[in-house]
This record gives sequence, C-alpha cells and structure tokens, in this order.
Amino acid sequence: MQAMMMNQPLSIIEILRYAAGGHPGAGIVSVRTEGDIHRQTYAQTYKRVAQLSHALGKLGVQEGDRVATLAWNGYRHFELYYATAGIGAVCHTINPRLSAEQMLYIIKHADDHVLCLDVTFVPLIEALAEHLPSDLVFVLMTDRAHMPESQIDFLCYEDLIADQPDIYDWPNLPENAAAGLCYTSGTTGHPKGALYSHRSTVLHAFSVAVALSKSLTEGGRILPVVPLFHVNAWGLPYAAPLTGASLIMPGPKLDGPSLFSLMDSESVTSAWGVPTVWQGLRAEIVSQGRNPNGLSQVVIGGSAAPRSMIEGFEKSGVEVCHAWGMTEMSPVGTHGLLSEPQRKLPYEEQMRLKSKQGRRLFGVELKIVDDHGNPLPHDGKASGELFVRGNTVIAGYFHNSDATADAFDHDGWFGTGDIASIDDMGFLTIQDRSKDLIKSGGEWISSIDLENIVMAHPKVASCAVIAVAHPKWDERPLLVVVPAGDDRPTLDELHEALLEHVAKWQLPDDMVFVESLPLTATGKVSKLTLRQKFGDHKLP
Ligand code: ADP
Repeated sequence: MQAMMMNQPLSIIEILRYAAGGHPGAGIVSVRTEGDIHRQTYAQTYKRVAQLSHALGKLGVQEGDRVATLAWNGYRHFELYYATAGIGAVCHTINPRLSAEQMLYIIKHADDHVLCLDVTFVPLIEALAEHLPSDLVFVLMTDRAHMPESQIDFLCYEDLIADQPDIYDWPNLPENAAAGLCYTSGTTGHPKGALYSHRSTVLHAFSVAVALSKSLTEGGRILPVVPLFHVNAWGLPYAAPLTGASLIMPGPKLDGPSLFSLMDSESVTSAWGVPTVWQGLRAEIVSQGRNPNGLSQVVIGGSAAPRSMIEGFEKSGVEVCHAWGMTEMSPVGTHGLLSEPQRKLPYEEQMRLKSKQGRRLFGVELKIVDDHGNPLPHDGKASGELFVRGNTVIAGYFHNSDATADAFDHDGWFGTGDIASIDDMGFLTIQDRSKDLIKSGGEWISSIDLENIVMAHPKVASCAVIAVAHPKWDERPLLVVVPAGDDRPTLDELHEALLEHVAKWQLPDDMVFVESLPLTATGKVSKLTLRQKFGDHKLP
C-alpha cells in the first residue's frame, strides 16, 4: 500500500537554509590565504551563497555544468559547495597534489566550465594554461586588493558577488541530480570520478552526524584538516551546519605547530585528518607538554591509525575515533567509537578495539568474500575482499564504463579492493589494500599489522612495509624505516618487538632507512613509489 506522506526531494541547499535559521550563531572561521582570520556565521554564509549563485548564473553556469575548485579549506570554498548545488550545478573539487598530467586529465574529463582557485595556485595554473581548454573561465577566490598580476584573465570572486541579490529562488531539483564530483587519486591508471547526488550527500551527512554526535553538535568546533578538495572533507561541510557545529578552516598551513596554535586559540573540540597530519600534531603536543585548549576528540582515517598514535592521544585525555572509508563511499563507511558496554572493558581490550577500523555507519552494509565471491563469516578470523552496499556508495564511475564494469559483483555490491575481517561485534579490521598485501608462499602477510608494531618502537619515527620479489616464497616483506634520531634501530631489535605479536615467518627479511616516506596526493604513504624504488632490493 502506498503511504500518504509528502515527498520532498533531499537537497543540499536545504542544509544551509536550515543552519542559517536554526543555528544562526554557528559558522565558519577561516585562516585566509590573504593571511588573516575571517569569521562568518551560517546566516551570513547563506546570503553570500545566494549572491554567488547569481554570479555563477551570470557566468553562464547551468544545471548539470561542472564548476571546478582548486582551493584550501576556507569559507569561499564552502560557499562554492553550496552555490553550485543550489543551482543544480556540480562542484568538482580538484586535488592540487595530483600530478600536472592527472590534473589536466580530470579537468578535461569532467568538462569543467569554470575553475575557481585560491591565489596560492596561480603559478600552477599559469604553468598549465596552454594545455587547458580555451573556454575555461577562471575565478580567483579573493578580493580586488589581493588580485595578482598575471597573463591569465582572472575574474575576482568578491567583485563577482558584490552587487548580487542575497536571496535566491532555488530551483526544485530531483534528489538524484548530481551535486559533487571527486576523482580518486589514481595510483594506478587514470583517476576515476565519483559523482555524488543531493540524496547521497544529505543521507551521508545524517549518518556521519549520528555516528559522531559528540563533536557534531551545537557548540561543537570542528577543524577539518582533511581537505575540502578530497571527498568533501569527510562530509563535514554538510554534517557541521546540519548539527550546528562551527567549522574552523585551517587554510594552507597544516604543520603541527600551526595546527596546534589554531586549535588552541579557537578552542577546537574535534579535529579530523589522516595519520600523517597527526604525527606532526602529536610531536607539538609532546613538545608543549599539553593538549590544545578544548580538544576532546580526534578522528583519524584515510589510512590505518597506528596503535601508538591512538594510545598517545587517549592517554592524554583525547578520544580517538578511527574511521575508514573511500572516495567511492562519500566517503565514511565505518567509525571506531566504542559502544557503552565496550567502554567498560579493560583498557587493553578497548585499545585493541580502537585500533580496528570500527563499525558500519547507518545505511552502509559490509560483506567479506572468498576468492570465488562466497560470503565469509563475521567471526574476526576469516578474511577476504571487502564489498559494500548502500545509498552513499557509487553505482558506477563518471563516464568510465570500463572501470565501472570491474567494480561491482553480480549482486551489485561495490568491491573496495581492501582485504578485511569483521568480528562478531561488527568491528571491521582492514588488513591491507589487496595490492599491498605480501603474498609469501601462499600465505598473506599484512603490512598494516607489521607497521603498527614497528611504529610503536621508540627508535622509529615512521615506517612502511612493502613486498619484495623472492625466488622461493614469491614475495617477502621489506621494512622501510624513518629513524627517530641518530640511534638507529637494528633489524634484530625490531624483530624482537614484532615477535611479541606475529609469527616468525612473518618477520621482515631486511630493512632500509630513508629520510622520509613518499606520500600520495591524499597524504598517505605511497607504497607504489616505495615498490618502484625498492622492488629490486636484494634480500639477504
Ligand atoms: P585514494 O584516492 O587515496 O585512493 P581514498 O580516500 O578513496 O583515496 O582511499 C580509500 C582507501 O584508503 C581504502 O580503500 C583503504 O584502503 C584506505 N583506508 C581508508 N581509511 C583507512 C583506515 N582507517 N585504515 C586502513 N586503511 C584505510
């Protein structure tokens, strides 16, 4: 029987309209590329978004058109998210850390109409200009006083919106209309586009808000270190205004001391980012001997959070939420906050659980399968490829039928490429990306497990484990270590630490030292680069 309820399409602009009226005091604090700190409430933001929407219309942007951004975390970037969605256009966020070749590929593949960029990226665009489409319109996200000299004909963001009306008659859009476009970082082959809808984005915002209700609440002050240029800053630009939390946008400076000082002065309650960023913040916390004022939670995801990092935060009274997800999932899939009974478990047991990637968000289903696609039990022991399904998961890649054909199983579940186990409490453990697993004599060795243990050693600053070809065992693990100081660890010392947790046959066969680990465009350790560099390493 058909229900008798109204059916209003879910819409992104509705989140900001709600925040403007319902949470008028909350808003956005931004470290601007101009160098100062800027403050604006959601109510003011809503008016500027209306002005920007009129301005985009004047530039000829129509429903379905792609508007690209190349920008740090700041209020103008946030405004672009909402203005594009409000008028039915698509916000295509470009990761500035992509290679020039990848950037050109995605600008052309997305068929961007307008490119809005922070002043920081002027040299980058000048260098690429001759290869960019000749009809691309460039908007510099600054005011008249900060417009640089350039041979490119940049329009000025503040000039464009200045005289526009601050109300807009938003069109009624179907909730499945596209609103956002984000490309994976494409470590193999070309980047692939995930095309989010109003519906998927609003549902994701609700799911994240429910899971992380401690920080996503009225009065919360959240610092997204995770960039707006990659997977919607984990949904924060939507979940924060929805719940009345303010956003503290850090701009370009993401080193430990800069983050510490901003968090301290702005009383940030919760900060979200990848493990490499938290290494810098932890070092600053240790050197200052205190936490930033007001910090009560950090969300760590994007790659495995080492247990030593989790314990470091937890022991100083900052709760860690270890989250897992991917571009194709909007992106958050699981969160590692403990349930009420789990919070009463002994400390060791709590830390063991917190090192896992956590439990699913509302609306996301998880399954693990064997090599033939048969479902495996959720007993914490069986491991296989992780597949996901839900309203916040892509149904295909944007204009890429080949990649789409490979990504789903017969029942329409999306294959994540991660190898995982799930325990009887529903806690997911990511063992590895399938391409990073080390296959030794028909058995698997998890690089994440080994890294976690070695990372906790006092003589190690950071490390990665990669597979190296072996004539007898196919592959064996090689440890790549960044030493913490002049007193470098020996392989025997690290073996000793590892043997407390793993079997002897899983021990790395050799170790090399490096000054730093190469990172991908999304701030993760680039195993691909390490394999290219050390793949031929002769094992003893
Ligand atoms: P990229 O564009 O770098 O691939 P994604 O954010 O889409 O960016 O990467 C998703 C992948 O990152 C996941 O499939 C998984 O392998 C890894 N990942 C994300 N979060 C975690 C985590 N908490 N622990 C381990 N791996 C993670």
